[in-house]
Amino acid sequence: MREGSRKYDVIVIGGGASGMLAAGRSAENGSSVLLLERNSRAGRKLGITGKGRCNLTNTCGIDDFIENYGRNGKFLYRALIEFPNSALVAFFNENGVATKEERGGRVFPASDDSADVVLALEGYMKRHGVDIMLNSRVRGILTDDRGGTVTGVELGKGGGRISAGKVILATGGLSYPATGSTGDGYAMAERLGHTIVPPKPALVPLETEEEFPKLLQGLSLENVEATVYCDGRRKESEFGDMLFTHFGVSGPIILKLSGSIVERLDKQEKIVISINLKPALDRTKLENRLLREFAAAGRKSLSTVMKNLLPKALVPIFLGLAGVQGEGKCGQVTSAERKKIAGLLADLRITVARPRAFNEAIITRGGVDLREVDPRTMESRKVRGLYFCGEVLDIDGTTGGFNLQAAFSTAFLAANS
Ligand SMILES: Cc1cc2nc3c(=O)[nH]c(=O)nc-3n(C[C@H](O)[C@H](O)[C@H](O)COP(=O)(O)OP(=O)(O)OC[C@H]3O[C@@H](n4cnc5c(N)ncnc54)[C@H](O)[C@@H]3O)c2cc1C
Repeated sequence: MREGSRKYDVIVIGGGASGMLAAGRSAENGSSVLLLERNSRAGRKLGITGKGRCNLTNTCGIDDFIENYGRNGKFLYRALIEFPNSALVAFFNENGVATKEERGGRVFPASDDSADVVLALEGYMKRHGVDIMLNSRVRGILTDDRGGTVTGVELGKGGGRISAGKVILATGGLSYPATGSTGDGYAMAERLGHTIVPPKPALVPLETEEEFPKLLQGLSLENVEATVYCDGRRKESEFGDMLFTHFGVSGPIILKLSGSIVERLDKQEKIVISINLKPALDRTKLENRLLREFAAAGRKSLSTVMKNLLPKALVPIFLGLAGVQGEGKCGQVTSAERKKIAGLLADLRITVARPRAFNEAIITRGGVDLREVDPRTMESRKVRGLYFCGEVLDIDGTTGGFNLQAAFSTAFLAANS
């Protein structure tokens, strides 16, 4: 398209979760809107969220929401007031997606199909007359000569320029780049004078130095507690489920802890995760339980009885790590051996080598520096008419629907502004 051949009130760059809502809402508010998406379809990442089920949001209160975004949560206060979880659920219900609540307040489409969410957003945009250009990768954002006000965008591959009074940048982060989020938005914002907080993978599996997690690949542990030790000092803990993989560890509690672990690894700190396999029992209760189990089992082998306490696959590796013979009879386990077993049940240690790469990270930590964005409007404090929403911002939440809620709330606020 040649420069000036069409002019829109609003151009949205990126047809992901936040871009589609921002485009639809801007059009509903009466603006002429163009959505530019580099892929041949919008919402590719949205389609794979929540293992294809799309955990849309969470039913917790606003204070819990803010807490679940960690250090930058307060920035979202206004966006979450303007478009809270209840409004998000109502929006999708009105747009044909019935929802249901699951454990931990997580909200999913009743159909368990994220494709319904994508279709609802596409329908919303079309109904309000958004022009959608697919296969259209934006190369840069245009400003007036002084660089202070947005005037439009420039497409790649000789696609020309399109004018607009306002541009909403919704290009996402760097995670799962095959979905289209390859960090283009960071470069565009940086060229306009924005600071980019260095992007890092978050909600990401971790590689371990020890070999034993790899030998246990595929095994998940339920209701365990993982505690992070940083240079020997106790830090955060999470209770829940985790998974051993061919490179180390993953699963809900590991992903939750991963963001702060990545930051600490960057500071060259040594990170050890201590797994308490029996968090419901304190040390005395644990030793008493072992005493009872071993006394009752008498002539049975130790490894047979340990299967009452641990998943079968873990038993030989666990006893190897404890340095106790599994073939020995329970009645012959010494007090020192029992203490070793109790100790390891409460404190199975793994050393984190490194995080997996962006292509396995659910979310990107870092992005457009929030100090340069007005939290009341999502407008840039550097360039008039430039707005941000979604993961391109330096916002990252934990699992449970928090990242999509942040994407939708910031999109709604940007569109209304
Ligand atoms: C496997 C996985 C599962 C997840 N599950 C959940 C979940 O269940 N619940 C939850 O809350 N969060 C989940 N997330 C996180 C959530 O998907 C993201 O936080 C959210 O999609 C961010 O939305 P966004 O619109 O900012 O970016 P994206 O959804 O990444 O969209 C950005 C869009 O911009 C386009 N784009 C990029 N550059 C350009 C350019 N130069 N020109 C034109 N278009 C461009 C991209 O192609 C893409 O379509 C998950 C993430 C992953 C990877």
